[in-house]
Amino acid sequence: PEGATPTPVATVSQYACQRRTSTENYNKIFTDAFEVLAESYELSEFEGQCLAFRKAASVLKCLPGVVRCLGDIRGLPCLGEHTKSIMEDILQCGRSFEVEKILSDERYQTLKLFTSVFGVGPKTAEKWYRAGLRSFSDILTEPSIHLNRMQQTGFLHYKDISRAVSKAEARALGNIIDEAVHAITPDAVLALTGGFRRGKEFGHDVDFLVTTPELGREKSLLPDIIDRLKQDGILLYCDYQASTFDISKLPSLRFEAMDLFAKCFLILRLKGSKVEGGLNSAAEDHRGWRAVRVDLVSPPMDRYAYALLGWTGSRQFERDLRRFARFERQMRLDNHILYDKTKNEFLAATTEKDIFDHLGLEYIEPWQRNA
Ligand code: ATP
Ligand code: MN
Ligand code: MN
Repeated sequence: PEGATPTPVATVSQYACQRRTSTENYNKIFTDAFEVLAESYELSEFEGQCLAFRKAASVLKCLPGVVRCLGDIRGLPCLGEHTKSIMEDILQCGRSFEVEKILSDERYQTLKLFTSVFGVGPKTAEKWYRAGLRSFSDILTEPSIHLNRMQQTGFLHYKDISRAVSKAEARALGNIIDEAVHAITPDAVLALTGGFRRGKEFGHDVDFLVTTPELGREKSLLPDIIDRLKQDGILLYCDYQASTFDISKLPSLRFEAMDLFAKCFLILRLKGSKVEGGLNSAAEDHRGWRAVRVDLVSPPMDRYAYALLGWTGSRQFERDLRRFARFERQMRLDNHILYDKTKNEFLAATTEKDIFDHLGLEYIEPWQRNA
């Protein structure tokens, strides 16, 4: 009976920047499984397989309904034999044995645990695992281990930082940053970026872009904001990276995900954060505050559109924008610029729409970029 009247499916592009992906994910059961496989491959440094599963998950995320049989995914890009066999297991048994094997694997569990600490990357986690360490108490009681300042802060605020940030908390932080920024320069421009700009209900941090119309003035902006937050007594941690962006050296720029703008990775003390419509956790009630991760990036105003596009994400959407620019348009895109290789020129943009236009792409709204 299945497949008698195949529903005509509009062709789905292999590029996430040609798909509209809201926060509504009807196929979480599959994409969660793919994410476990992707993470497992990432931790083992199998980059190709990792990316393949991330791409597959991204394609499923744009579908308007639940996949009920393999026939439903016929003709979709980025779904290979391996992804299909995982989906088949889930469709038949409600679970994937391959995923369950990974989830119960000691190495995977330990590396996931260690990398969940702010400041601990895959390399450090691997080193600790090889040294026989398996738990936080193993790490914290091992005399030969020296934690850097970031990792010390990571352990200190572990519970708070690993708890998701809500939209209401993001809004409250926006008000705090807004006040600080405008006390410094009344004409400052502040924009919410990252997952919350894409309409997500929860995030692991809150991302902001902050600048001023006066070119060059943005150089002192982050240090001034940081000083103010410190004075207000809400700065728990700050990793500030001054700008290394030099417009006169543009042609020699490497096109990479990491940008060269001034930025800071912060942990702020957020007071009175209430869970909307619910009770606060016991610990929170007691203290009346929580620690939250905040990222601030400060590009010069003429780079604003590129920085905004680059910091809004999702990571998969960004990856495919760059890939599309390169392979379909002979252009190079990163968080700073768009370069047309055929015309040998840099393309100016004041809005995100300008960049989509340059690329010959339909405009995709921020809340449609949850690829
Ligand atoms: P989450 O809710 O988990 O925070 P997110 O989409 O906001 O999800 P982030 O890690 O905060 O994820 O990153 C937001 C965007 O900013 C990403 O799309 C990423 O491409 C970009 N980004 C993050 N860190 C950097 C960096 N150091 N340099 C350049 N771009 C970055
Ligand atoms: Mn974020
Ligand atoms: Mn971030």
